Amino acid sequence: MNDDIRRKKLDSLFEAFSIISEESYVFLTDFTTRVSRWSANAVDYFGLEDEYMYMDERWRPKVHPDDVESYSDSIERIVSGTDNEHHMQYRVLANNGEYVVVTCRGVIIRDENGAPAYFGGAIKNHGLMSYIDTPTGLRSLYGFFDDFNSMVWKRRSAYVIMIGLNKFSNLNDVYGYKFGNSVLREIGNLIQEKFRNSGEVYRMDGTKFSVIVHDLTIEQIIDIYNEISETTVHDFYIGKERISVSLNAGAVLIDNSQISSKVFYSCLKYAYYESKNHRLGALTVFEEDTRENTRDYMEKLNIIRNSITDNCDGFYLCYQPIVNADTEELKGAEALVRWKNDKYGVVSPNQFIPALEQDPLFPELGNWILMTSVTDAKPLLTKYPDLILNVNVSYAQLEKGDFASKVLDIINEVGFPAANLCLEITERCRLLDMDLLKEVFEALKREGIKVALDDFGTGFSSIGVLREISVDTIKVDRDYVKNVEKSSSDQSTIKSISDLADAFSAEVCVEGVETAGMRDFLRKYSVNSLQGYYYSKPVSIEKFMRKYG
Ligand code: C2E
Ligand code: CA
Ligand code: CA
Repeated sequence: MNDDIRRKKLDSLFEAFSIISEESYVFLTDFTTRVSRWSANAVDYFGLEDEYMYMDERWRPKVHPDDVESYSDSIERIVSGTDNEHHMQYRVLANNGEYVVVTCRGVIIRDENGAPAYFGGAIKNHGLMSYIDTPTGLRSLYGFFDDFNSMVWKRRSAYVIMIGLNKFSNLNDVYGYKFGNSVLREIGNLIQEKFRNSGEVYRMDGTKFSVIVHDLTIEQIIDIYNEISETTVHDFYIGKERISVSLNAGAVLIDNSQISSKVFYSCLKYAYYESKNHRLGALTVFEEDTRENTRDYMEKLNIIRNSITDNCDGFYLCYQPIVNADTEELKGAEALVRWKNDKYGVVSPNQFIPALEQDPLFPELGNWILMTSVTDAKPLLTKYPDLILNVNVSYAQLEKGDFASKVLDIINEVGFPAANLCLEITERCRLLDMDLLKEVFEALKREGIKVALDDFGTGFSSIGVLREISVDTIKVDRDYVKNVEKSSSDQSTIKSISDLADAFSAEVCVEGVETAGMRDFLRKYSVNSLQGYYYSKPVSIEKFMRKYG
């Protein structure tokens, strides 16, 4: 075949590649002539001068100096026939002088005799911003998933650790991003320093970090984590200010089985929440400490997930009273979901909400929760016409375009007055577009529905949310209340939050009130309502009715 014919063949194959690789740049190299063709938009974007070149001669010089060795290695392995596929992420210099992150996937196409004929593939441009988290300078959630996927793809084994901040004891920080961002940056630095040479650190959503650790045993990792949390609790400074931050951590071992990133992430979150809710922040390894292996947990999650499609069979709601802080009269109730079946008994929402709330099925459960809770609570309104029913909503629900109209449909159908309903949203909503959040809540507020900001102080977005939507109630996270009688920083936190609430004309509800002592203490501050085991644990609607109905 002469070069002209080869060029035509290259071109027609190239067109085929381009069609199947939407939104990516395409390259194709003919092994015989060593001529390659590159997408016109890649030529523009990276300044490659011409669509045709010898191998990757104009591409390789654009690869970031820190990445070029592994890039060249991988290409070498392709050319020498050692590898069949090329899949890696690296940085490339764009025509505007900035590096962008790309993922490049290439395959060898063989001729009828099995000899390499072409090497072709697609290059995805991830751009600059999304892969780097601006406040911390670390790689972001997106970068994490990319690296995770390529690690699984290469069948490398590693521990993945999620480390999250519990709260800030010194709480000027709830006052804004700036201080909060410094805290995040410093903690990011500390984690990076301690895992230097053995792991890559990422900033995840909210106040969480992840580390992908190669070549350390779990004992070594636990030691490092303990050092980190020792430091953040006892010896941690932002500028001159000493603050104390406690941490939680979950870990999952990725061995060389092909695990989907969704399944893996659910496991990681599960371990993390075990650490947070049951192990006082100790590093919790998914398999060992939960005594359930990945498969069991996923099986359980899957059964729970299937119950959603099965008309939410197995789910039920409990109600916890919220009382007036001065008079201790019933003011409202929070609906809290549970799931139960014969094999697993009662499963707490911490075990499935974080894992499922990103699931496209979740809004269906959300609607069921709303429908069931307004139906359950409606009879209470005869005796308590001002009672407020609090229902938690997850951001997956808010994200759906019809959320507001769905809520209104449900309460209209049941005949539950809008003014008696309060939707609780959490800091996780920061993942949402603020404009969208605003729009949804403005529509709901026009109808008289109330909004509470849940778990206040555990994230950074809270202030942002407060500014954007008029929140009726701020709920102070239990974390801040546990030691309120002894800890002066918890006391000043409560005070700060109630000042803040005042500035935004919002009420304050304190959660996790477990003793009369705590109640008495909290009454010193301008707190409007109280919720906690001291008054009642969450109970069935029947029990709730017997007590208050
Ligand atoms: P949350 O919204 O912050 O709910 C308060 C949690 O604190 C509840 O746990 C409640 O049982 C617990 N609690 C209340 N008073 C006390 C106390 O005095 N001491 C202690 N130690 N704990 C107390 P629960 O029911 O296990 O719910 C956990 C989380 O699951 C909730 O936290 C919420 O984020 C989520 N969740 C629960 N129900 C729903 C729901 O219907 N929809 C959504 N989206 N999330 C839900
Ligand atoms: Ca809540
Ligand atoms: Ca809460």
